[in-house]
Amino acid sequence: MMAPTHVLAGLAGASLLVATAPEHATVGALAAAAGGVAPDLDALVGTHRRTLHSPVYGTLVAAPAVALAALAPSALTVALAAFLGAAALHAVADALEGGRELRPWERTTDRAVYSHYHGRWLRARRLVRYDGAPEDLVLAALLAVPSLAVLPGALRWLPAACLAVAVPYALVRRRIPGLVERFRARTRA
Ligand SMILES: [Zn+2]
Repeated sequence: MMAPTHVLAGLAGASLLVATAPEHATVGALAAAAGGVAPDLDALVGTHRRTLHSPVYGTLVAAPAVALAALAPSALTVALAAFLGAAALHAVADALEGGRELRPWERTTDRAVYSHYHGRWLRARRLVRYDGAPEDLVLAALLAVPSLAVLPGALRWLPAACLAVAVPYALVRRRIPGLVERFRARTRA
């Protein structure tokens, strides 16, 4: 999924805090947004969908953090749980997407996300064919509903900003590889 979808998934989870621990909703929402986008930093440093993506270990680390935050809610435990939970969800969600290639709609690889637990790449399930696909945009819109509905005040700008990025990204997504290649060719010349 595209970055806005991952952030919106984290925010949807953090929206539960409004009912359970409203005093920590702000820190939880910010941490969830950061955790939703953080794994993809490995596209810049390391191997994309491997270095900072870990569906199994990520979940094993997030689960006790969520339990701790439920038992002893504080700004720190809630932030930790929200960050780790959103990052783990991101890695699991990437396994449901297309493969890691420039044009995922061409289906030249089945590698979706690396599982350090299994010691191999997990197969792309393609429930969402590629990041920025129409079904990804629909998913993003649905995931935006809870946070737009319940997050307090200025925090609603977070899901709104995600949608403001997601819509144009989805519209131009299939043209991006061509633009990248043209840009690379020009900078090489
Ligand atoms: Zn990812």
